[in-house]
Amino acid sequence: MAMQQQQHKQQERCTREKVPAVGRVAIIGGGISGLAAAKQLAGHDPVVFEATASIGGVWKHCVYRSTRLQTPRPDYEFSDMPWRNRDDPTFPTHGEIIDYLEDYADKFDLWRYIMLGAKVVGVKFLGGPAAGFTELWSGTGEPLQGKPMWEVGVSTSDSDDDVQWYKFEFVVMCTGKYGDVPRMPVFPPGKGPEVFKGQVMHSLDYCKLNEQETVELMRGKKVVVVGYKKSAIDLALECAQANQVTCNVIITNWGRPDPISDTYSAPEKVTLVLIRRTLHLEKFFYTTCEGGQACTMLVRTLHWVVPSYSIWGLPFFLFYSTRFSQLFYERPNQGVLRSLLCRLMAPLKAGVSKFIESYLSWKLPLSEYGLRPEHPFVEDYASCQMAILPDGFFDMAGRDLIRFRRSAGGWCFSENGVVLDDGTEVEADLVFLATGFEGKDKLRSVLPEPFRGLVVNKSAMMPLYRHHHTRTHSSGSMADGEVARACRGTIHPLIPNMAFVGYVESVSNLHTSELRCRWLAGLLGRRFPLPAVEEMVRHVDGETEAMRRTTRFYRRHCISTYSIHDSDAMCADLGSRVHRKPNWLAELFAPYNNQDYKEE
Ligand SMILES: Cc1cc2nc3c(=O)[nH]c(=O)nc-3n(C[C@H](O)[C@H](O)[C@H](O)COP(=O)(O)OP(=O)(O)OC[C@H]3O[C@@H](n4cnc5c(N)ncnc54)[C@H](O)[C@@H]3O)c2cc1C
Repeated sequence: MAMQQQQHKQQERCTREKVPAVGRVAIIGGGISGLAAAKQLAGHDPVVFEATASIGGVWKHCVYRSTRLQTPRPDYEFSDMPWRNRDDPTFPTHGEIIDYLEDYADKFDLWRYIMLGAKVVGVKFLGGPAAGFTELWSGTGEPLQGKPMWEVGVSTSDSDDDVQWYKFEFVVMCTGKYGDVPRMPVFPPGKGPEVFKGQVMHSLDYCKLNEQETVELMRGKKVVVVGYKKSAIDLALECAQANQVTCNVIITNWGRPDPISDTYSAPEKVTLVLIRRTLHLEKFFYTTCEGGQACTMLVRTLHWVVPSYSIWGLPFFLFYSTRFSQLFYERPNQGVLRSLLCRLMAPLKAGVSKFIESYLSWKLPLSEYGLRPEHPFVEDYASCQMAILPDGFFDMAGRDLIRFRRSAGGWCFSENGVVLDDGTEVEADLVFLATGFEGKDKLRSVLPEPFRGLVVNKSAMMPLYRHHHTRTHSSGSMADGEVARACRGTIHPLIPNMAFVGYVESVSNLHTSELRCRWLAGLLGRRFPLPAVEEMVRHVDGETEAMRRTTRFYRRHCISTYSIHDSDAMCADLGSRVHRKPNWLAELFAPYNNQDYKEE
């Protein structure tokens, strides 16, 4: 019955088959960001080009069997569609997330905008070189001027020759930061995978295997997992689970082929034969055991890991996710007074970080395994690198099924495994590279020059806009520090009529993407203009500086320590309420999540 219902649902989901030769808005990617963009920009009849046969992005193509969301359920939901079981304290599985996203597309009839199996292979700029910087963003800050600015090349088959071109006024890039393009470590000649006798696999290829295949791949093998972020941790746990010793009892007749020949050592065989003869046995049973190999994690940079969202009995949101707690953290392009406040509050911020570190060090055997990071917890939090530990991870380490080796100075392959920076060798049959993804390459492969080179700035961050739209005096000059409105990392000032959603991270990327798409709808709907290009460029530099001062891992473009301020800025641009709680107590001390940003 459930199966029939599901089939019926699939049939009702009529995706887009025809694309007009000239359209207003193209959205590239059908993950969470692409869906949020389609919903918010529905008024422009957008075309969503999704390369694969399904929506959901990473939750469909970049997950293991055990992957779950690590953001609490109520923080990872669209403002206009709460989870049906939002009080369920478990973290949703990847399958649950896909169901939720499909329900979202059903609810808002988003399928009609989506073209599946449509890979964008390139975009061309129609503005021409003569457009120059002054004419960027149409020179007025209003992107939609009724003339096509981009041509989008789409392939719906495996052949690169078969590309259809469509013109659009505006393009929204939602190709995602993770998945699709693996980040591969580079080795000097003779030290790479070519010298290794075993198998090398990136975590992305592991995601393509089914459960049975993953177990068969890892069972009984010496495995090395390179990396110590969420995908590496989950992979090591799956490997340990596959390698738990399992014994099967087999009942068999004596006779040929001799069932014990491969299973037991010579003295054991002699004993068994003696027993059989003495007791005149016709049948006997024996056991075979599989697994038992340890998985070694190769850790280059340590990060703090967290067992749950509770610290010494206090809910985690109290530390970084209330308006009060975010008051003391640096924001991009803040004024002198705020900078002073942030400096004065440095001991308090360090105290909060230490408080959390003390709990993690007490709760988890970090020192025992040499896994206690030297840097403060807040630096991981501020760069969105906090991994929630899957259940049973350190139990497996306790059973010696997961081991840890540090190699801060790098490593390379040898014939029989990997060699660490201190010269020691770890033997392996299989080496997993959980080394991350090259999300920006997806953009580079599509964007034309000169825009391709602008995707990464000198700090290797993606220079996206969080412009401060400053109030002007009657004289027309900007009032220093008098920030009236600000908008969020969505556009690149030097890439006109294009937006980027899903490249800035926070504790809930869904919330971050949804609010950005709403802001974008405001921009395209002329609810506010963009400031001058120079001002936007200045702002991006300010944002990079703020991140640089907060965390050594600033390249990741994460806003988790000032996410409420970020949302405030977008609400202000849109002319909607900034303070969204019923009273000042809640305003200061209750956590903000997407339900607070329901459209009014
Ligand atoms: C294992 C894992 C766990 C995570 N856990 C969390 C979490 O707990 N909390 C959290 O907030 N975030 C988490 N994230 C981050 C996650 O990436 C975001 O939450 C969110 O799903 C990103 O959505 P997206 O639409 O921006 O990108 P994606 O999901 O990557 O979607 C991009 C889509 O674009 C398509 N595409 C790419 N290139 C093209 C092209 N040229 N033409 C057409 N289509 C194209 C892809 O096929 C894909 O469908 C996790 C990510 C991973 C990988």
